[in-house]
Amino acid sequence: MIPEIASVCGLYCGACGIYLATQSNDTEKLSRYATMLGQPLSETRCDGCRSGSKTAYCNNCYMMKCSREKNLNFCGECNEYPCEELKNFQQQMPHRAELWKAQSRIAEIGAVEWTAEMKTYFSCPQCHTGSTSYDLKCPKCGHVPGNGFVGNNRETVMTYLENRKNS
Ligand SMILES: [Zn+2]
Repeated sequence: MIPEIASVCGLYCGACGIYLATQSNDTEKLSRYATMLGQPLSETRCDGCRSGSKTAYCNNCYMMKCSREKNLNFCGECNEYPCEELKNFQQQMPHRAELWKAQSRIAEIGAVEWTAEMKTYFSCPQCHTGSTSYDLKCPKCGHVPGNGFVGNNRETVMTYLENRKNS
């Protein structure tokens, strides 16, 4: 069984703010995401890529649709990998920085093990609280970086957050 939070494209849903806010039932945070994404709050909840409950954005995912048509579990299994669509998707946002690494790791150790690795990777090294790809510091104890991903992609994440603030 592939974990619901191991996405087709290689993202770990456990590092998404909407997923985390849904799991902790943080309506205030979910409302902010709904406004930010311009979609209704009722469609701004998520239990993971392979679950029955996803945000409007992820429900329209090209990769999910494509992988179903081709009967594949992950983009990395496809003979067209990495296709133009996935390459464009990867370049758009900093939280997608490690998609290629994720796909090869999933092929290497399997989705269950990879998901377990990601849980640790996206947790605070000090208090083990899970956080997102954009948490420069741990939302609970303030440790910098908030998780391993942010530690490895600090510059990219910081530049993105600065630009967003200024736009
Ligand atoms: Zn912490």
